[in-house]
Amino acid sequence: MIEATPPIPGFEEYIGVYVLLGKPCAILDIGPYSSMKHVLDALEELRIKPDQVGYLLLTHIHIDHAGAVGQAAKIFPKAKVVVSVYGAKHLVNPEKLWSSTLQVLKHVAEGYGPYEPVPEERVVLANEGLEIDLGVARLRVLETPGHARHHVSYFDAERRWVFAGDSLGVYIPSVDMLRPDTPPRLDFEALLNSLEKIRRLQPRKIFYAHFGWVEEAEAWFGRCLNQLLLWAETLCSLDDSSLLNAKRAMQVLHERDSEMKKLGKLKPERRSKEEFFLGNSLTGFLDYIQRVGRERVSGIVERFLRGKAGR
Ligand SMILES: [Zn+2]
Repeated sequence: MIEATPPIPGFEEYIGVYVLLGKPCAILDIGPYSSMKHVLDALEELRIKPDQVGYLLLTHIHIDHAGAVGQAAKIFPKAKVVVSVYGAKHLVNPEKLWSSTLQVLKHVAEGYGPYEPVPEERVVLANEGLEIDLGVARLRVLETPGHARHHVSYFDAERRWVFAGDSLGVYIPSVDMLRPDTPPRLDFEALLNSLEKIRRLQPRKIFYAHFGWVEEAEAWFGRCLNQLLLWAETLCSLDDSSLLNAKRAMQVLHERDSEMKKLGKLKPERRSKEEFFLGNSLTGFLDYIQRVGRERVSGIVERFLRGKAGR
């Protein structure tokens, strides 16, 4: 692992970019524009020339994963950009994507830097089952909506490795903290189905976008699922006034979710960054509950709890 100082303070252990050393090479989730320099330094260290990169694989188009893809398409002349059909048009024409990113992430978006357009002819649609041949490995696209409608994961069936993007939340290895990554427009039911879909493949290693990789995947799925169900259950049990009060709702989550206690172990800058993103994850949940209704959400939780008991 090559580590670099993040251009935005507090973003240590956050942006995970994977370089897959095949023939051709692939870069999975190129990251935002502001960390691109570190990726180029790493490629130099690995002695990879720009024309050896055949693929820029994207799990989704959020700026922390795909912000630099337009610039990268220029730097790597042979690279195809692999992205979901729902994300592709926004990368070809990123004005709307950039303005909505600014709206949601505010100063953080400025710190990441803007998108540049990807030429349409460089785009390959990441449809379910698409195979990416890297010579030494084959990756299969899994559609894994939930975190975003257009989210996909990449599975190496031979090694049983999965590059799961943001599906399994955010993990902070130094304090062993896990948190949901559920910004608006979260589709909670789709997210749970996607987790189940990945779990059934029995991966040996799960590669996080944020951050690093984990083994003992079966136990790991339990930990992720428990936290998501706990959040949904907790939020559904709030009375209407608390449900409309994000501060109050966050307070209750802090009381019930033991993972949140680990926030206290983080350095102040890192902690305030996590708190900002936790706020986004809560907004995603609250918005989802408002859209589909708490009864339906409770029903989904119950169904998954029953499924877990039956395993
Ligand atoms: Zn992300």
